[in-house]
Amino acid sequence: MTHLIEIHGLVKNFGPIEAVKGISFTVDRGEVLGFLGPNGAGKSTTMKMAAGFLAPSAGRAIICGHDVEKEPLAAKRKLGYLPEGAPAYPDMTTAGFLSFIAQVRGYRGAEARRRVAEAAERLELGGVMYQPIETLSKGFKRRVGLAQALLHDPEVLILDEPTDGLDPNQKHQVRELIHGMARDKAIIISTHILEEVDAVCTRAMVIAHGTVLADGTPGELEARSRYHNAVFVRG
Ligand code: ATP
Repeated sequence: MTHLIEIHGLVKNFGPIEAVKGISFTVDRGEVLGFLGPNGAGKSTTMKMAAGFLAPSAGRAIICGHDVEKEPLAAKRKLGYLPEGAPAYPDMTTAGFLSFIAQVRGYRGAEARRRVAEAAERLELGGVMYQPIETLSKGFKRRVGLAQALLHDPEVLILDEPTDGLDPNQKHQVRELIHGMARDKAIIISTHILEEVDAVCTRAMVIAHGTVLADGTPGELEARSRYHNAVFVRG
């Protein structure tokens, strides 16, 4: 299989709002694709449809050969998705939430415990395992979300603003984590930060008003950045 992610003509209309106006692309193993764009550009909506969490108005998304709408279970087995915002189930503890996700993923007993411990270690959650998620800082909530997405070591990761709310040191750690995983996975991240694209992405797409304005390596996009500077921030 060549492409781990295939997106064909995705469209999403919310009533009169055309949030996504026909986006197509593929992502191969070893690629980290960055979605860059201003608020309301259509990044999250595209990611939700790619991950099978939102039905498109038209088009389809295929993850590891499985259509996310027609074969949702097969597709989701191969996929880790980090939605924007805080994890669901805010009154669960970190440990309870990750154990629950492990069960949902079909792991039991020692294997479930090993998966939870590994994910918690990777995201440095040791100090907050027995705290309810709603009492955690924004950065820790983000890391719990990332641990959830990585728990089953999926081949495809779709991460909506993975470093949002993290302090500079944590941002660096999460970028290193993504970079380290990239070789044997296909990854999409969204970000407002051009530096993040430089640090972890092999390719980037500038999205605005529900369409792709530019697609290229970070270097190519940087060269064209005078035009796009308005939609990026550094830092
Ligand atoms: P941000 O960087 O702020 O997360 P984004 O690029 O992810 O922005 P989206 O969240 O995909 O943008 O939103 C694209 C457009 O679709 C916006 O105009 C938004 O208001 C609209 N939209 C998104 N979700 C809904 C919804 N559930 N109902 C109505 N409109 C929506």
